[in-house]
Amino acid sequence: MPVNVTCACGAVYNLKDEYAGSRLACPKCGAAIAVPALPPAPPVHAQGGDAAFARDKFLLNQQHLAIREKYDVADEAGTPLMFVERPRYIFLNVLAIFAGLFAGLANLVFFGALGTGVKKGGGDPLLVILLSLWAVYGSFLVVYLVAAGLAKKRHITIYRDESKAETLLRVLQESKIQILTASFAVLDPQGVRVARIFKNRLQNILRKRWYCHDGAGAALFTAKEDSMILSMLRFFLGSFFGLLRTNYMIYDRGGNILGEFNRKLTILDRYVLDMSADSRRSIDRRAALAMGVLLDTGEKR
Ligand SMILES: [Zn+2]
Repeated sequence: MPVNVTCACGAVYNLKDEYAGSRLACPKCGAAIAVPALPPAPPVHAQGGDAAFARDKFLLNQQHLAIREKYDVADEAGTPLMFVERPRYIFLNVLAIFAGLFAGLANLVFFGALGTGVKKGGGDPLLVILLSLWAVYGSFLVVYLVAAGLAKKRHITIYRDESKAETLLRVLQESKIQILTASFAVLDPQGVRVARIFKNRLQNILRKRWYCHDGAGAALFTAKEDSMILSMLRFFLGSFFGLLRTNYMIYDRGGNILGEFNRKLTILDRYVLDMSADSRRSIDRRAALAMGVLLDTGEKR
């Protein structure tokens, strides 16, 4: 939000926040201008009635060897604030993949045989080509659709603590088949939608980018990888044993930085979500935290 200041000579300037409270020389007449200070930042409200979210910095600590993905979310001092769980359903999903492979094989055998039969019977050559194309390429699609359709959705639940007695927030995967887009609904414990977070996989090839809208569908912020080069290297090399991790910057609609999501350079897998650049507290911290967890678990790294 720019600061407006008018010089005694009549010149009007729109200055960036960082000049608030300082004295500048007017470029036009040379007179000193006192730039008014910003109003004090509003406190971070206990959003959704819960004090756990009323802060700018969150530490996400992954429990690495857990089969079901689990996290502690702590404050700056390391005091636990919340417990996050995103089950993987490994056994069920392996079953789903086998079912997909079986269905794909059945498709290949059936349409392959049908194509051969039509050819032997002297049928339309175009039909023969279409049947054999579907037998080969359609089988891949069948594998994917059956496996994805049978897999369990990977919802995220954020609890008060490890006892899981009290739910603070839920992040629900909106659909099983997520070929071009992936989307998640962020709900409070009463089921009221706080935000919707989504990405477009085609855009993600060059630079990973996730969008967040508020409960009413208005754009709130975007999280974008900070380095296109690292992003492209990761696309070709994968995470490269975890070395090619990138940070995300969080921007508002005008391109101003609101926060960042960084990997801490410690032995432990520890990420910091830092929203202190959002001095106006314009972003619901529940939506920001949900984005942090998705960036960590929703990108394969
Ligand atoms: Zn002036």
